[in-house]
Amino acid sequence: MNILDHLLEGEGVEQRETPNRGGHITPRYLVFHFTAGASAQGSIDLLCDPASRVSAHLVLARDGSITQLAPFNVKTWHAGVSQWEGLSGLNSYSIGLEIDNAGRLTRVGSFYRAWFGGEYPEDEVIYARHKNEEEPAYWHAYTEVQMERATLLARLLVREYNLKDLLGHDDIAPGRKNDPGPAFPLARIRSKVLGTGVDGDNIYRVRAGMLNIRNGPGREFDTVAEPLPLDTRVALIEKGDRWSKVAVVGDDRTTGWVYNRYIELV
Ligand SMILES: [Zn+2]
Repeated sequence: MNILDHLLEGEGVEQRETPNRGGHITPRYLVFHFTAGASAQGSIDLLCDPASRVSAHLVLARDGSITQLAPFNVKTWHAGVSQWEGLSGLNSYSIGLEIDNAGRLTRVGSFYRAWFGGEYPEDEVIYARHKNEEEPAYWHAYTEVQMERATLLARLLVREYNLKDLLGHDDIAPGRKNDPGPAFPLARIRSKVLGTGVDGDNIYRVRAGMLNIRNGPGREFDTVAEPLPLDTRVALIEKGDRWSKVAVVGDDRTTGWVYNRYIELV
């Protein structure tokens, strides 16, 4: 993917113009949302309907395809009443990315139901506590390809517009909004894209030629990935006497246990 004249281009990217737009902006943030809708197409239609008075710059479907509804230097109507770092009305300062996801779900017997009646099986559901709430709840899971494309989009937009931060709608309108919610790995994407959220004191380097990473603290446990090459950076999650749990930096999906002797503080 690529950005040319404030428009995204690349495989699986389409343009459609929404009439729900304002004047020129210089974006400083990317704001993530879930659509809380039944389908990407339904959400795109809604965001392009003049009667809805809502829009966003991008809609990311569950299969990873992306529809852009307005150039990135034009205001869209995704944030509503919102505040961040002394600014209010974040539509004037941000790019809005809507991700096709049903949002919060309610358990009904063996399946899970969205507010609009859609029903989802257990393997599409995450039980987690929202950062602005007290109790855990059920949330529609994002697809792997959505999380990959969201990360890639964030990287592209941060580079193109020198964005200061990646935010959730639930960061800029807490209490009023709960998207993208706890099923979305915003902290992980922020740390990947902005290099934040990882404590510098916790970064180790692999000092063995090839270091096995296992699913438990001992040689009897299976490896979880290919051995880590020399100089791989890992972030410490849990320090043990002989074995420590680590996450591979830049690939936090890979976590596991490594033998302490073969890692050292950077
Ligand atoms: Zn939202």
